[in-house]
Amino acid sequence: MTASALTIPVWMAVAAVALAGLAIGSFLNVCIYRLPRHQSIVRPASRCASCKRPLSWYENIPVLSYAVLRGRCRTCGTRISIRYPVVEIITAAAFVAQLLAVGPGPLLAVHLLFTSALIVLFAIDLEHQLLPNVITVPGIAAGFAASLLLPPGPIMSLAGIALGGGVLWLLIEVWWRVRGVEAMGFGDVKMLAMIGAFLGVKLVLVTFMLASLIGGLVALVVVASRRGGLMTALPFGTMLAVAAFIASVAGEPLLTWYLGLYR
Ligand SMILES: [Zn+2]
Repeated sequence: MTASALTIPVWMAVAAVALAGLAIGSFLNVCIYRLPRHQSIVRPASRCASCKRPLSWYENIPVLSYAVLRGRCRTCGTRISIRYPVVEIITAAAFVAQLLAVGPGPLLAVHLLFTSALIVLFAIDLEHQLLPNVITVPGIAAGFAASLLLPPGPIMSLAGIALGGGVLWLLIEVWWRVRGVEAMGFGDVKMLAMIGAFLGVKLVLVTFMLASLIGGLVALVVVASRRGGLMTALPFGTMLAVAAFIASVAGEPLLTWYLGLYR
C-alpha cells in the first residue's frame, strides 16, 4: 500500500477504515431491511423489528450491542438476526481490503461506496431475489460521474455500462426467443451496468466470468449435496456482487494472469 502521502501509520489507517466499515455496515443493515419493504431509510430511528421499541444509542453500537445483548431484544426477548453483526463485520473487512488494494485517496472513497452498494444488493437479492432500482440506477450515474475524474475514466466507464448492460440484455432477449423463459431478470442487467460504470469495460468482463465460475461451482455443490432448488439456491445478483468485489480489489492482476495463460 502506498501510504507515503499520509504520515499516519498503516495500522491506524486500517483501524480507522475498519471502524468506518462497522458504522456504515450498521447503516447498510437498515437499507437491507427497509428498501425491499419500501420504507424510508432515514425515519424512523432504528427499533426492534418485533416490539417496535426505539433502540437507545447503546443498543445501536455495531457488533458490540449484539454481543452484550446476546442477540435478543432487551424488552421483548425476540431473537435479533445474526445478519446484523455479520453484515457489519463483512463491511469492515471489505473496506479494509479496499484500503489495502487501492490505498488512501479519492478512489478509495469511490470504491467504498461501490462496495457498500454491492453488500446491500447481495443481501437483498439473497433474501428477496430482488435488485432494487434505487441502488442500481443511481449507482450507474455515480460510477460514471466518478470516472470523469478517476480511473477507469469516462470512455472505459461508458463502454462498461454498454457491455455490462447490453450483453446481458441481449442474452435475456435471445434466451427468451429460443427457450421462452427468462434467463435472468432485468435487475441483473442494471446491476452489471452499474458494475461496468464503476470498474470499466475490462473488469466488467472479469466480473461476468468470475460470477459464472462461482455460479458453476455453487451449482456443482448443490447438485452434489441435494437435488432441486438449483437455480433458486443462489440468485445471480449475489454471485455478481461477490465477483465484482473480487474484480475491484484484484481484477487487474487477475486479468494479467488470465491473459498470460494464452501467450
Ligand atoms: Zn423487541
